[in-house]
This record gives sequence, C-alpha cells and structure tokens, in this order.
Amino acid sequence: EDKIVLTGEKIIVKVGKLNIGENDSPILIAGPCAVESREQVLEIALRLKEIGVDILRGGVFKPRTSPYSFQGLGLKGLEYLREAGEKIGVPIITELMDEENLEAVAEYSDIIQIGSRNMYNYPLLKKVGQIDKPVLLKRGMSATIKEWVLAAEYIASCGNKNIILCERGIRTFQNYTRNTLDLAAVPIMQRETGLPIIVDPSHGTGIRELILPMSRAAVACGANGVMIEVHNNPKNALSDGFQSLTPDQYKEVVEALKEITN
Ligand code: PEP
Ligand code: MN
Repeated sequence: EDKIVLTGEKIIVKVGKLNIGENDSPILIAGPCAVESREQVLEIALRLKEIGVDILRGGVFKPRTSPYSFQGLGLKGLEYLREAGEKIGVPIITELMDEENLEAVAEYSDIIQIGSRNMYNYPLLKKVGQIDKPVLLKRGMSATIKEWVLAAEYIASCGNKNIILCERGIRTFQNYTRNTLDLAAVPIMQRETGLPIIVDPSHGTGIRELILPMSRAAVACGANGVMIEVHNNPKNALSDGFQSLTPDQYKEVVEALKEITN
C-alpha cells in the first residue's frame, strides 16, 4: 500500500496563531516574488498589513529559468523578510532550494516552501521530513496527482506531517496561460491526503487579470487559502513583475474573497 502515513484523516497545520485546514476564512499568503531589498520588503509588508495578510511571502533563493536572471538575495534577504514579518506581526514563508540552507531557512522562516522544481527532489523532501517545521509543498509542474501525493508521503513518512499543499498549475498543451491551474486537484488532494491545500493563481495563470477570478474559484471549491504575488511597483520588479498585483489590485481580491465561503 502506498499510503501509510497520510490516510486521508484531516490534518490541521499550526503556524503561529493560524490553524491551517480549519474551516475558517481562507488564509491569505501574499508578498513579492523575490525579496529585492530591505526597503522593498518592509514597504510592501506594511501595505499588505493594512489590506489584510496572514503570512508574508518572499523568495530569497530564486529558481530562475535563466542563470542570468536575478537569483535572489540569499540569507541577507531572509533577514530582511524576517524583519518585515516581525514588523507587521505575521509569519513568513520562503523557498528552500537545497539542503545546504536548510538550517538557516528552518531557523528564520515559519514555513519552508518546496518549489515546483523540487517536488521530485526526494533527498530534500526527506530532509524537511526530519524536522517539525511546517512545509508548503508545491505541485511539480508536470506532476500527476499520484506523484504529488507520494511526494507529500515522502515528507510525512519521515515524521513531519505539518504539510500544506499548493496547487500552482501544471504544464499542458495549452499555452495561453503560463500554466493550467488544476482546481479539481483541490478537493482531490484534500480527500486523498487530509492535508490543507492552498492555491497560487499567480504562477497558476501568469496573467494578472485572472488572479481575482481564480482566487474566487479556488476558495469556492474548498481551498484553505491563496498565495498571491504582490509588488509595490510591478513594472520594476526583479522577477515575475508581469503577474504581480499592485497593492490596490490585491485589495480587490481580498475584498472579493470576503463574499465567498467554502
Ligand atoms: C514561487 O512561489 O516563488 C515559485 C518559484 O513558484 P513555483 O515553484 O510554483 O514555480
Ligand atoms: Mn514568482
């Protein structure tokens, strides 16, 4: 039998005061694609706090398609992200790309993000399985449901059941959107694993205008939250500016989600 630890029994993941997976209002994770400077992350964090945010996101190790693109600020960026999170009083999340930085990310970040490209990195999954930090496991961009379930099982079978899943779109023949957001995965993964799941419509569509409707759809089909890229000045962002919302656009999403119950 494949499923040994994740039986489908409901799991609630505690992060600070949040109980992710409880039938509460959806968890709002927002922030820039990448931490670009101390000022940038503090400024956007304060703005997000005014609008409404539960967890602050920001990449410091960026898995960029091109080696010549901005790769992130590394550990310095992690300090800035933590400072910003403390300033507004919310937990933070950042991506871990390799074992080398596990200790630092586990110490500084409240949630460890495993990105789409690393969903199949089984040694890394085992490592985050051996600590008790919450892990946000993004779906591999070409992962089947079964492969994704088993990636979560890799983490859980090492002892760490504090896993939040994240649907971020998959590659299909359709190339109008950056990825094809597979919302059917939301109720399927909840049933198969019992884990909470959030949706990332930013990478899931790559189109700013689709983020509001897809956030509504995500919550309507039972997602436990959304993760949205927001930048103070998307035109000048060092990564993913084209899909990043301005704070005002993010506010519209937050307002719209108040009308939806899951
Ligand atoms: C991200 O959320 O910062 C990211 C790189 O997304 P993904 O791993 O889904 O491509
Ligand atoms: Mn991004």
